[in-house]
Amino acid sequence: MTGYYIFISIYLYLLQWPGSFCDTGKQSCCYPNSGKPASEFLIHGLWPNNNDGSFPSNCDPNSSFDSSQISDLINSMDAEWPSMACPSSNSHSFWAHEWEKHGTCVESVFNEHDYFKAALNLKGKADGILQMLSSSGIEPNDNSYSLSSITEAIKGGIGYTPVIECNQDESGSSQLYQVYLCADTSASNFITCPVFPTESCSSDIKFPSF
Ligand code: 5GP
Ligand code: 5GP
Ligand code: 5GP
Repeated sequence: MTGYYIFISIYLYLLQWPGSFCDTGKQSCCYPNSGKPASEFLIHGLWPNNNDGSFPSNCDPNSSFDSSQISDLINSMDAEWPSMACPSSNSHSFWAHEWEKHGTCVESVFNEHDYFKAALNLKGKADGILQMLSSSGIEPNDNSYSLSSITEAIKGGIGYTPVIECNQDESGSSQLYQVYLCADTSASNFITCPVFPTESCSSDIKFPSF
C-alpha cells in the first residue's frame, strides 16, 4: 500500500506514566517479563494524525507485526516501551497492536523497523520528563499539583507545550496518566501541536508514585 502519508499532517506521540496505569482499580497492571520498568514515562504510541483531529487506522491488513524485523531494538523497546497490561508478557502483543493500528498507516514512509526506531529516537528527545517536573518541585509522591504547573514544567524542558491526559485512581481522583507531544511528518522533531486532544484533567492532578 502506498500514499497514506499524503493525508497525514502530524504524529501524536504518547508517553504514559506507569503509576497511573497501575492504580486505577478497575484493572491492575502487570510488569512485563523484562521486569519492573524504570520509574520514568514510557512510550505508549506514535500515531499519525490529521490536522482536523481525524486519523487513519489499520491501514494494511497484510502487514502484521514481525518481531524479527526489530530484533536489534528489543532491548531498548523493553526499557522504553514495555506493556504494563495483564497478564505479564514480552510486550509483543502491545507492539503488534501499535504497529498494525497506527504504524501501518505510514508504511509508505516507514517500514516497521523505521517506525519503532523513530519512536525510540523521539524518546531520546523527550527524556528526563521526570527530571523536568522535579526541577519544578513536582514529584511522583501521591501529592497533587496544578495542571498548569505540570504543563509549564514540561514545556520548559522540551520547548513545546504538551497536552496532559488524566485518568482516575481507585478513589476517583484525577491523576497524570499521559503526556502528548506532536511531531513533524518525518517523526523526527517535536512541533507545536496543531490539534489538541481534549483536556481530561481537573485543575489539581495527583502524581502517583511508581
Ligand atoms: P480512546 O477512546 O481510548 O481515547 O482511544 C481509543 C483508541 O483510538 C486509541 O487507543 C487510539 O488507538 C485511537 N485514538 C484515539 N484518539 C486518537 C487520536 O487523536 N489520534 C489517533 N491517531 N488515534 C487515536
Ligand atoms: P491504543 O490505545 O494504543 O489503541 O490501544 C492500546 C492497547 O494496547 C489496549 O488494547 C491495551 O489493552 C493494550 N496495552 C497493552 N499494554 C499497554 C500499556 O502498557 N499501556 C496501554 N495504554 N495500553 C496497553
Ligand atoms: P485497550 O484494551 O483497548 O483498548 O484499553 C482500553 C483502556 O483500558 C485503555 O484506556 C487502557 O489504558 C486501559 N487498560 C488496558 N489494559 C489495562 C491494564 O492492564 N491496566 C489498566 N490499569 N488499564 C488498562
